[in-house]
Amino acid sequence: MPAPQMHAHADERLLALVGGDLDVPLVGGEWVRYANFDVAASAPALRQVADIVAELLPYYGSVHRGAGFASLVSTEAYTRAREITREFVGAREDDLVVFTRNTTDALNLLAAALPADTTVLTFVGEHHANLLPWRRGDVRHLPVPASPADALEALEAELRALGGRNALVSVTGASNVTGEVWPIEEIARVAHRHGARVALDAAQLAAHRPIDIAAWEVDYVAFSGHKVYAPYGAGVLVGRADWLDVARPYLAGGGAVRAVTADGVEWTTGSARHEAGTPAALGAVAIAAAVGALGETGWERIQTHEQELLERLLTGLDAIAGVRTHELWERGHDRVGVVSFNVADVDPALLAAALSAEHGIGVRDGSFCAHPLMEHFAARDDGCRHAVRASIGVGTSAEDVDRLLSAVEQIARHGA
Ligand code: PLP
Repeated sequence: MPAPQMHAHADERLLALVGGDLDVPLVGGEWVRYANFDVAASAPALRQVADIVAELLPYYGSVHRGAGFASLVSTEAYTRAREITREFVGAREDDLVVFTRNTTDALNLLAAALPADTTVLTFVGEHHANLLPWRRGDVRHLPVPASPADALEALEAELRALGGRNALVSVTGASNVTGEVWPIEEIARVAHRHGARVALDAAQLAAHRPIDIAAWEVDYVAFSGHKVYAPYGAGVLVGRADWLDVARPYLAGGGAVRAVTADGVEWTTGSARHEAGTPAALGAVAIAAAVGALGETGWERIQTHEQELLERLLTGLDAIAGVRTHELWERGHDRVGVVSFNVADVDPALLAAALSAEHGIGVRDGSFCAHPLMEHFAARDDGCRHAVRASIGVGTSAEDVDRLLSAVEQIARHGA
């Protein structure tokens, strides 16, 4: 077993944030405790989130539409969720907080709200959610940069070439394939120097680092509830009101209007303009509960826990013959707990299946909704369009990491 000789620090308070242990069956019929290394895809709801949602359920009532007590409670909870979410991302007072279905929905909303003459710049290694929505308009994809400094240089050159045209730079906070954290503040500085706006895809950042869009001078941020330990179903776009207030409403329907006549409509402004229909109020409340729980726990504590486990995982994987991890940049840059890797001569799909069926370990395999990035790795590193991804969160323990390392080593030695 190649586990490094590190102190197995266990932050019980963090582990307790996540619900009780889950037992899962192995192929031989035995049951074992589930080791969840797929939190970057969807992170299970925190206990506190489940409790707050359960407390609100008896007061189920229509949001913004009813006069009854339950309706008033639901409306108040939804409004409060908006304010908590605004604070969580460090938004400016006049920024809009629009609840959506998820990050994908939020970025599609923003793409649909761009002024007509806007050019969007993204790096091609982004998650598809931050590539494809922009392709409905004028978009330029910059190549995967060899370093953060390269990213800034490429951006500067591209913006200079645009010569002051309206532009939006949309960038991920942390890569869903490698966990590497992008130089957001520096990117915002370069963009603003050329009069461009910046959108931050914080899907992989929001559960692991504090976000402060006002201080970073980021114009828009999007993230998903199910990646910050709230249930599926709700996400958010937060950002500058001006484009959103005049854009065609993302959804047409009740709640987005000031007045409707037989053949005309006057749309409202503010968040409601893009939130037609009954909102996913419990989803919004769950997001607020989740980010509240993370805030109370403290970012330093969360980061210390996750960084220790990330180091343990990387050191252990490096020690297994035949394992190759994938990074955009040289190791040493800030990184959240996401590691993609391959084992020589083992199909990643079989590796993932064996980890589940024989060890009770959940990982993700494939190309992670980042096909161009995986193509880049395939070209650069000679062949890895698919990989396995292990991701770490507040509920991950050192014992989980050691179980994963032991299982990967067995498979690397004997095959899947
Ligand atoms: N952006 C990144 C970096 C992601 O990792 C993901 C999901 O994995 C998304 C966007 C899309 O998130 P969602 O599926 O919740 O819309």
